[in-house]
Amino acid sequence: MGKKWVYLFSEGDESMRDLLGGKGAGLAEMTKAGLPVPPGFTCTTEACLAYFAAGKRLPEGLWDQVQQAMQVVEKQTGKKFGDPKNPLLVSVRSGARVSMPGMMDTVLNVGLNPETLKGLAALSGNERFAYDSYRRLISMFGRIVKGINGELFEKVLDAYKAKTEGKRDTDLTTEMLKEIVAEYKAIYKRELGEEFPDDVWQQLSQAIEAVFNSWYGEKAVTYRRLNKMSDEWGTAVNICTMVFGNMGDDSGTGVAFTRNPNTGERELYGEYLVNAQGEDVVAGIRTPLKIAELAKVNPAIYQQFLETAQMLERHYRDMQDLEFTVERGKLWMLQTRSGKRTARAAIKIAVDQVKEGLITKEEAINRVTTEQVDALLHPYFDPVAKEQAAKRGDLITKGLNASPGAATGAAVFDAARAMRRAEAGEDVILVRPETSPEDVGGMLLSKGVLTQHGGATSHAAVVARGNNLPCVVGCEDLTILPEERKFLYNGREVKEGDIISIDGTTGEVFLGAIPTVEVDFAKERDLATLLSWADAIRRLGVYTNADYPRDAKRARELGAEGIGLCRTEHMFFEAERRPAVVGMIMARTDEERQKYLDQLLPFQREDFEGIFEVMDGLPVIIRLIDPPMHEFLPSRLELVEEVTRLRCSGANPQELAEKEKMLQLVESLSEVNPMMGLRGCRIGLLIKGVTEMQTRAIFQAGCRQAKKGIDVHVEVMIPLVSHVNELRLEREKLERVAKEVMAEEGITIDYKFGTMIETPRAALTADELAEYAEFFSFGTNDLTQMTCGFSRDDAEGKYLLQYVERKILPYNFFQSLDQKGVGKLVEMAVKAGKAVRPDIELGVCGEHGGDPASIDFFHRVGLKYVSCSPYRVPVARLAAAQAALRNG
Ligand code: PEP
Ligand code: MG
Repeated sequence: MGKKWVYLFSEGDESMRDLLGGKGAGLAEMTKAGLPVPPGFTCTTEACLAYFAAGKRLPEGLWDQVQQAMQVVEKQTGKKFGDPKNPLLVSVRSGARVSMPGMMDTVLNVGLNPETLKGLAALSGNERFAYDSYRRLISMFGRIVKGINGELFEKVLDAYKAKTEGKRDTDLTTEMLKEIVAEYKAIYKRELGEEFPDDVWQQLSQAIEAVFNSWYGEKAVTYRRLNKMSDEWGTAVNICTMVFGNMGDDSGTGVAFTRNPNTGERELYGEYLVNAQGEDVVAGIRTPLKIAELAKVNPAIYQQFLETAQMLERHYRDMQDLEFTVERGKLWMLQTRSGKRTARAAIKIAVDQVKEGLITKEEAINRVTTEQVDALLHPYFDPVAKEQAAKRGDLITKGLNASPGAATGAAVFDAARAMRRAEAGEDVILVRPETSPEDVGGMLLSKGVLTQHGGATSHAAVVARGNNLPCVVGCEDLTILPEERKFLYNGREVKEGDIISIDGTTGEVFLGAIPTVEVDFAKERDLATLLSWADAIRRLGVYTNADYPRDAKRARELGAEGIGLCRTEHMFFEAERRPAVVGMIMARTDEERQKYLDQLLPFQREDFEGIFEVMDGLPVIIRLIDPPMHEFLPSRLELVEEVTRLRCSGANPQELAEKEKMLQLVESLSEVNPMMGLRGCRIGLLIKGVTEMQTRAIFQAGCRQAKKGIDVHVEVMIPLVSHVNELRLEREKLERVAKEVMAEEGITIDYKFGTMIETPRAALTADELAEYAEFFSFGTNDLTQMTCGFSRDDAEGKYLLQYVERKILPYNFFQSLDQKGVGKLVEMAVKAGKAVRPDIELGVCGEHGGDPASIDFFHRVGLKYVSCSPYRVPVARLAAAQAALRNG
């Protein structure tokens, strides 16, 4: 026997997800569990890959196996494919290993032709239903298999709906549906120059090929690129006996989640459409009933469905996204898969499921992504500003709160334009009557999505939730006119480019921008619980980069266990300190400079006192001044302009003289490569008094706070060292100052001296440095710059992103550590440092300290901590725990 391309639902199970796709594996698993699944089979993802490898030809043996499987299905159903008396109809649906909602194609009602149509009408006793099914087949087949523009069919349907009283598809009469079928067939013939195929086997084989082809459809390719999914996976094709939700009022179709995908609440959440088929719910054509109302419409079915849903959640040990159809009062399950959910829901569900005993803490930690934790900490609209906006009359409407979060941006009415404007750096909100898979690229780059139609399971809602994108749908009182690039409300209009704000948490839509406020972390109990479990598992400490007491306080609330980097120079930029800073730089003698340093000392001491107080009991790593001096002075260009202006006007000779002096100084300090110039430890070594002043301020602050009972642990960090002599000389000098101050203050505090590893030479000679450093902190920003030769200030804005786009670089090394190159230096320095000083404290304070992939690396090389910006602290806590679970 040749290769097996086809598996009956009864032959597969969940473990075959890669081969059968998510949908196929789910159908097989439900079949195995004895749930009511219509008989069917799956053509494997391997068949899809073989189809493309053979230049888009069905692989040898596939068609025979499909025909054999159809025979089995015929036996199971007692129906026959193409039989005019008792016709079997099937759906042909895509299903990759990871769900790609709406990205690929589906054809329903395959097997209908004028003969089987009569049989279906007679068997069901419902001619209207038979024609309704037929018109769906012709339009779906025409659109998906043959590429006919779907709008041609939509226009016909809309015209007929307009003639009815209720204006809905269910109001169409049998006669109207017959006419629609005739018109659809005419469109098909006009567009393709051939008749709609009556041969049911031809329908089937072409539908299978069309689903395979949709793997490389534009929207699927875009979706995979944006979600970093491989083209190599292929899609399976599921051929499933049709069951009909459009057989009358005792039939219907629904989509439901086993828990609320917005909030995570444990309740059945979803929608149900009476007398409807397949994609009607997802497409948002009619506004569906809430699933709870099914309990009133059909209590027995509701109960059966509820029990099935609970059973599936227990079986898969995760929240499920279910599709089902009720055919004349009988429930059929059509899909189960792990449901997409908001960040908030993901965290609540994971925590609740641990408490319910369904999953372990470790599983909960792995279920929640770092992106979700990040999203939860995003700001929301300032309630006061929101109320004011409402009072001003700027609250336009309230739709359905489909995906939480606050977003402000320019309204844009087309996905392609939204994409372009977003790529140019603009904040945009995509506004559409409804969205379809073609819009996904534009949606993902927008700040938020707003639609006129659709419910909580519409395409817009599902995609937005899965991507942490604020989204409001179902704003039926807006008239969105994409062609005219505007929407109308209450006799007013919003044009493309006008700023709007949407609140995906409440469903409100506002005119204009609304300021946002930060999340109250203390109230995020589920997140706190999850992170406390993460803390018990992780080995890496999580510190923060904070320069001011308020940042340190915030970081501590978010779980920071120390300050890994306090950049002292930021404090020099404050207005009241500027004259002293400039004076210090301009000073011509040591005495003159000391005068200004003496003015700066109390300011610095105050800064450090505040930080020690907030970080009571935790380590605080303070880095001595780092940037080149010219950064504290006005720009050369500005000065040249002012000097020229003053020279021309002749009005203020004194000011001119001052500006000329400043310009001279700036020119004398100017360097071709300032990032490799007089900065870092070189300042302390070459400009007398600066780092001594800083050290004095640090130790005075530490001693004075210690006297007040604060538990001070200070670590003084010397930046940008390249040669051991730099470190040795600077350390010796500064430690003398430290001891002097402690003697003066009459108290000693816990302190360390150490260095940053920011230059390749420092990493290469880490053994020498370890003689004089009690700790290393990897400054991976500079280390990346200097190892790769990419300027930090220019590369990202100029060429680096192009490099990534063209795959010259695998990713942006400033965002995620270059583990092969820069990482090798880190590893070498760790080993060399430990060999000389076994208890050396090792950490990282470059931006990579908050990046999950880099955190995994730092865990593996055995650092003690990562340090990141305050808002990344929760992300780093989770990432560090995930790294521990992954690597042991
Ligand atoms: C670094 O270089 O990684 C670092 C943390 O220092 P800075 O970003 O201030 O240069
Ligand atoms: Mg640096």
